Amino acid sequence: MLRRATDWLAREVDQIKGQNLYRQLRTISPSVQSGRSLVEGKENIMASSNNYLGLAGDQRLTDEAVKVMKEYGVGSTGSRLTTGNTIWHEKLEKRIAEFKKKEASLVFSSGYLANVGVISSLAGEGDMILSDQYNHASIIDGCRLSRAQTNIYRHVDMEDLQAELIDSQHYKRRFIITDGVFSMDGDMAPLFEIKALADKYDAYVIVDDAHATGILGKNGRGTADHFGVSVDVIIGTLSKSIGTEGGFVTGTKSLIDYLRNRARSFVFQTALPAGTMAAAIKAIDIIESSPQLQHQLQNLTYRLRKELLYYGFDVKGEQTPIIPVLIGDSNKAMKFSRELENNGVFAPAIRPPTVPQGESRIRLTVMAIHTEGDIQKICQAFYKVGKKLEVI
Ligand SMILES: *Cc1c(COP(=O)(O)O)cnc(C)c1O
Repeated sequence: MLRRATDWLAREVDQIKGQNLYRQLRTISPSVQSGRSLVEGKENIMASSNNYLGLAGDQRLTDEAVKVMKEYGVGSTGSRLTTGNTIWHEKLEKRIAEFKKKEASLVFSSGYLANVGVISSLAGEGDMILSDQYNHASIIDGCRLSRAQTNIYRHVDMEDLQAELIDSQHYKRRFIITDGVFSMDGDMAPLFEIKALADKYDAYVIVDDAHATGILGKNGRGTADHFGVSVDVIIGTLSKSIGTEGGFVTGTKSLIDYLRNRARSFVFQTALPAGTMAAAIKAIDIIESSPQLQHQLQNLTYRLRKELLYYGFDVKGEQTPIIPVLIGDSNKAMKFSRELENNGVFAPAIRPPTVPQGESRIRLTVMAIHTEGDIQKICQAFYKVGKKLEVI
């Protein structure tokens, strides 16, 4: 039995290799405070981390986590509803709600689990979910688990969304779900228009703000704040600009009460350790009181994007620190990434199924801890490799 299973799996893996889509792990030793990394022993400029504000390596967060871990231990011992809940989880939930200007919030063990738990418990049979074509995999999985009818609208296409809303008026409840900032394209959802359509056709709006929290809006409050609208449900992660681990949802008190009882990925999951919660609180404090981090990020992003466009690269996205450079063919994207690494820049290729066929890319991200010199070196490496591989 075991041998037969292995044969079958080995054939599947061979097929993935044949399509040039085989994925391998790289061993990274981050020098998190400097925006550099050792990748298998060689130093590189880290140019694709989600640690946008550099907080993952911030001494203030580490000190806070260590202090609380010494008191509470490294494991939480159980689900929040049994033995895993501490004052630090509760403090963090209050802090997130305050930060996002909402009534209440709930922390999950990851953003992935927040999406899966929230979507699958809010939407059910007889409901309709309208989901942007480029939404994150965890949203897609949440939709699948929900048993609601899920229709995909073309990426940020408001005419298509409106047509779907008109066609689905006989459904019990309708939910529009979108990334605030799209993780692989770096563009923003047009939340002002989405909210207007939702109001007109009586639908709920759920926004996954994984890449906008700490980045967009006043003090990094997120995409809804950036567009000056209020949406029903905001989901987020603590693992990107906040620099720690975990996910959250924020909204009305009754939403959070309901989810605490019904979201299976909350109820049946061991809580995160208290030290991580304490570090996340510290991160939000820093984000709110250090607008210069956001400004630095914006300045460096503007410079890098402008330079790459000037060289003639096909650059996607807008205003956000995600700068996807389109290469096209997945083989060529892999080669491009390897060449970048030879030139001291670490940025893996992003290939299908993460992005559509023929749209393989290098997804660059800027960090507030990058220096002007780092940005210059990234530009130089891109120019050199772009010429060599005839991308520009
Ligand atoms: C990263 C990401 C998630 C998942 O968050 P984790 O905390 O890493 O599980 C969810 N949604 C989007 C849009 C993301 O980019």
